[in-house]
Amino acid sequence: MKPILPLFVFIDACGWEIIQQDPFVRDVAPHRRPLTSVFGYSSACIPSILSGRYPGEHRNWSYFVYDPKRSPFRKLRALQWIPAALTGRRRVRRWLSKYVKMRLKFKGYFDLYNIPFRYISLFDFTEKKSPLQPGGMNEGPNIFDFLQERAIPYHVSQPTAGEEPNLTALLKDIRQEEIDFAFLYWPELDGLMHRVGNNSKEVPAKLRSYEEKIARLMAVAREHYEEVRLYVFSDHGMANCDQHLDLRSRIDALGFKMGEDYAVVYDSTMARFWFFNDQAERAITECLEEVPEGEILSDAELKQLGTFFPDRYFGELIFLLQEGTLIVPSHMGERPIRAMHGFHPDAPHSYAALMTNQPDVPAEISAIPDMFKLMIRDATLAHAVNRGSKSAVTATSPQREPANY
Ligand SMILES: [Zn+2]
Repeated sequence: MKPILPLFVFIDACGWEIIQQDPFVRDVAPHRRPLTSVFGYSSACIPSILSGRYPGEHRNWSYFVYDPKRSPFRKLRALQWIPAALTGRRRVRRWLSKYVKMRLKFKGYFDLYNIPFRYISLFDFTEKKSPLQPGGMNEGPNIFDFLQERAIPYHVSQPTAGEEPNLTALLKDIRQEEIDFAFLYWPELDGLMHRVGNNSKEVPAKLRSYEEKIARLMAVAREHYEEVRLYVFSDHGMANCDQHLDLRSRIDALGFKMGEDYAVVYDSTMARFWFFNDQAERAITECLEEVPEGEILSDAELKQLGTFFPDRYFGELIFLLQEGTLIVPSHMGERPIRAMHGFHPDAPHSYAALMTNQPDVPAEISAIPDMFKLMIRDATLAHAVNRGSKSAVTATSPQREPANY
């Protein structure tokens, strides 16, 4: 038996709005609060949680950027001659994504999505490392660097392994009583809601299955640790998308050439543009200003959101749709999905959630990057106490602020 285990259970897309209508984990984690998300997709949110910093600092934001010089995809251009009926298929794309990921030795999540092979060599992919590993950030350290430097033993899920095997792996480590920190990663709710929306009966059913898993986890953890500090939390919510916008047709109609006059990535809720002449920049900007379903984000707004990049690495112009509208077709998918996230963090369904058995989480823990402060606070405390170290006294002091992370 050991004194303390901090248990961080990350559930992708378990947003604040969803748990408003559901008593999810209320018995084991009664203290609940909304957390402001980070503008972007999970590719931006998860690295922000793991590093305590915003994308403007850690540079993990959107997956694809215009960068032909560094594009690793040049060889894929040959695939443009395969009929679109085949390469446009989701299953074929998924298989190709796996193959490309292996060949290019990418360590994080990778998907070719719906980027046309004709244009793929214009783009680079920005998540070549796994943010769930030490050294996994594009810039600066994450929680796993922090733990490794201090020799704090920890458990983290393998995202490719699946939810049940990841739970089994964590239970094994808990029984061995060697870890002082655990991070469990569950992505399936996100995928489910993309498919069925946030009002489907399948959502509460999935939440019940998570409760059953968390109950199993807590039962084993309590057998081996006197105090289990449970934090169930998310990165963003999910909004049903009832409106679709064919932005690509409007831009194509202007007659400029992709790769020569401009480049664009159509993410599902935003479009990011790079311009190679003034004419294209002016005409495309004017066109976007006339689209009522979205708005061009100013530099001031991007700075406020923590997603401003002085080198315009992720796009010179960012056009964001209002909540509930989806770009279809986009480079993320040819066909619409039922629900999506990645709208403005102020939109009602963007908010993430924190549910915990700890009654004294400081009020300043109010946005998802703040979860990092809780993680290092509890990991430091558990490590000190579990080792019977004298430094436990200073580690528990609430005045102690994390340095540099
Ligand atoms: Zn998602």
